[in-house]
Amino acid sequence: MEYTIAPHGGRLINRILEGEKKQEWLERAASFPQITVSKVTLSDLVCIATGVFSPLTGFLSEEDYKSVRDSMRLSDGTVWSIPITLPVPEEKVEEIKKADYVTLTDSEGTVIAVQEVHSLYRVDQREEARKVYRTDDEKHPGVARLLRQSPYYLGGDIWLVNRPDRGRFARYTYDPAETRQMFIERGWRKVVGFQTRNPVHRAHEYLQKCALETVDALFLHPLVGETKADDIPADVRVKSYEVILKHYYPQDRVLFGVYPAAMRYAGPREAIFHALARKNYGCTHFIVGRDHAGVGNYYGTYDSQKIFTQFTETELGITPLFFEHSFYCKKCAGMASYKTCPHSDEDRVILSGTKVRQMLSEGIYPPPEFSRPEVVKVLIEGMREKAKTSL
Ligand code: ADP
Repeated sequence: MEYTIAPHGGRLINRILEGEKKQEWLERAASFPQITVSKVTLSDLVCIATGVFSPLTGFLSEEDYKSVRDSMRLSDGTVWSIPITLPVPEEKVEEIKKADYVTLTDSEGTVIAVQEVHSLYRVDQREEARKVYRTDDEKHPGVARLLRQSPYYLGGDIWLVNRPDRGRFARYTYDPAETRQMFIERGWRKVVGFQTRNPVHRAHEYLQKCALETVDALFLHPLVGETKADDIPADVRVKSYEVILKHYYPQDRVLFGVYPAAMRYAGPREAIFHALARKNYGCTHFIVGRDHAGVGNYYGTYDSQKIFTQFTETELGITPLFFEHSFYCKKCAGMASYKTCPHSDEDRVILSGTKVRQMLSEGIYPPPEFSRPEVVKVLIEGMREKAKTSL
C-alpha cells in the first residue's frame, strides 16, 4: 500500500501555470498594475505555488490575516501561525483598488506571478510584531524586516506564471510533490524533517540520529531563503552538509534537500510553521530542539516546544520530536543532553553561536566534540573566500 501523510488542509496546492494558460496570462499580465516584489516575497510565491505552504493559495486576506495574527488559525480554523502577506507600496494603492489583478515582477522586471485583487488593507505593524514575534523591538531581525515594509497588504489568490529558476541549489531543490514521491519509492513511511539555518554541528547530528533510530529516514532540510547578514551564507553551508553527509550519514536513509523559504526568526510561531511546511513535503515527524528559530534572548529556551501544546495532534497532523539542549560531555564520553547527562557544565563542551562564528572567522578550529573537523575545514575555507570577495 502506498503511504504518505496528508498535506496540511488535505490537498497539496499547485498554482503553477503551464502551456496555453501560461501564455494567456502572460499576455494579460502586461495590462495589470505592476508590483516589484522583494526576495522574501519571491520565495513566498514559490512556496505557495508549489504547495510548501498548503493550504494557502495566495497571500492572506484581511480576515485570514487577523485570524492568523490573533489566534494562529486561518479563518476556517486551520492551524497557521505566520502571516504570509504581500506588502504593496502606498503609491500603488489607488491604482490597485481599480484593478481585478496585479502582476508581480522581480527586480529585473520579469513577470513572476499574477494575483487576484481580493482584499486590500492597512495593518498595524507594531501589533503584528508584538503578536507574531512577541516583541516590537527593532533590533529583532524579523521585526526590523516587518517595520521596513509598507503597511498596506494585498490579499488574494496567486498563479505563478514564470517560476524563478531553482537557483544555485537546483540539484537539491525538490517540491513537496517530488519528495512525497521519493519517500514512496524508497519505502519510507516515517520520515523525520530537520530544519536548520546553520552548519550541522555535533548537537544537530545527535538530534537527527537519535530521531533516526526510531523512524525510517531523515529529511535534512536546511533553509536557504533570506537570512540575516551574519548567518553563515547558504552556499558555504551547503558544502558543509555535503561533506558531513558523505562521511557520517547512511546514504540510504537520508534525503538532503533545501528549503527555499525565508527565515523569520519568530521562534515559537515559526516552529509550528516549519513543522507544517515539512508535513507538506511528506514528513511524519519534525525535530524541535532548544530555541528553535529563535534569535538573541527574545524567546525562552523551550518556548518553541511549549507552543505545540496549544494544538491537538490531529489538527497539526505531524508529530513533533522535542529535544533538550544537547552537547558533548567529557564524563559521559559522548553526546548527551540536559535530560540524560548527570554531570556539570564544566564537563560539557558548549559554545555559543557567536563564539563559533568568531573562531571560524579567525581560522580557529572549534573542538571536534563540537563540530566535525571536515565540516570546520569547509566553513573556514568558505569564510576566507567570502572575506576575499567582499574586500
Ligand atoms: P533554527 O534557527 O532554524 O532553529 P538552528 O540551526 O539553530 O536553526 O537549529 C536547528 C534545530 O536544532 C532546531 O530545532 C534547534 O532547536 C535545534 N538545536 C540546535 N542546537 C541545539 C542544541 N545544542 N541542543 C538541542 N537542540 C539544538
